[in-house]
Amino acid sequence: MFKSKAYSAASATLPLASTSIPRRNPTDRDVQIEILFCGICHSDLSQVRNEWKDIMPTIYPIVPGHEIVGRVAEVGRAVTKYQPGDLVAVGCLVDSDHTCPQCKANLENLCPNMTLTFNSPDKHGTAPVTYGGYSDSIVVDEHFVLRVPTNLDLAGAAPLLCAGITSYSPLRRWGVDEGRKVGIVGLGGLGHMGVKFAHAFGAHTVVFTRSERKMEDALRLGADEVVVSRNADEMQKHAGTFDVILDTVSAQHDLDAYVNQLAPDGTLTLVGATEKPTPVSTFGLLMGRRNLAGSLIGGIAETQEMLDFCGKHNITADVEVIPIQKVNEAYDRLAKSDVKYRFCIDMASLESE
Ligand SMILES: [Zn+2]
Ligand SMILES: [Zn+2]
Repeated sequence: MFKSKAYSAASATLPLASTSIPRRNPTDRDVQIEILFCGICHSDLSQVRNEWKDIMPTIYPIVPGHEIVGRVAEVGRAVTKYQPGDLVAVGCLVDSDHTCPQCKANLENLCPNMTLTFNSPDKHGTAPVTYGGYSDSIVVDEHFVLRVPTNLDLAGAAPLLCAGITSYSPLRRWGVDEGRKVGIVGLGGLGHMGVKFAHAFGAHTVVFTRSERKMEDALRLGADEVVVSRNADEMQKHAGTFDVILDTVSAQHDLDAYVNQLAPDGTLTLVGATEKPTPVSTFGLLMGRRNLAGSLIGGIAETQEMLDFCGKHNITADVEVIPIQKVNEAYDRLAKSDVKYRFCIDMASLESE
């Protein structure tokens, strides 16, 4: 084992603070990565503050972070895909059972035995749970390491590993391409990536937002139209016309309003995790044979496909880069949705700790 610098939270109410954590020495299949950037996902905040205690209670101390970009420092003897110096990334998963039907279908994100990048039981026994990317290094099985196209801005590439794949995968799954009409609900970390992808796929892209203030930005990001969801006339104008709507909002909201925007056989796919159950009118789904779906990140192969697509189209997240010493301030701002559109930690700032 060796020690890594990191930031961790000791309880749901304490701020994140500098610490040192154990990392395993690379086994034959492992890649040791020097972390350069790590995005701040809203689920980092939710888990640090134990907001999902009924579904996945947080084990403290927690080291969050699953939007990791870095450089390979060392590889195990059996590693074939990577060598020291390569630009690589790690997302929300660091292991799975490799044997279940989902793993065999390259859908590790649906494996019942997946290991999340942080706060999952650590199979290697290095620590009680896995520790994430708010750290200067991480050691990961090569199967769960992704290659980063070298033309991408690295800070902007980090959020692709969660916000990017979370919006890319359901748009692909529901067949978004040229000529389709796609709605994106919410213009935050996930939503702004959804707009970029839907636009790059050639779809007619419409952003639903509660505030007129976001209109200009939505158009800049690639939207063809913007609908202010509070405006009943505007909503009525588009009713029954969407092939796919990607709903990225994690706050409690009215799903029926978006079901009613769908064309026959259209799909409303949810990617925001709401804390409490949300009612849906069955009539809205029966009429027009509409689908209500969910989605969770993506498999490893699809995540690589997404990164390669981003390399080809030069797509990255819009980020505000911060030193790790500003992470608690960033959390407070994130809780108020005060960021355009993702915080990303420059891990070089950890050196002075
Ligand atoms: Zn995330
Ligand atoms: Zn599996």
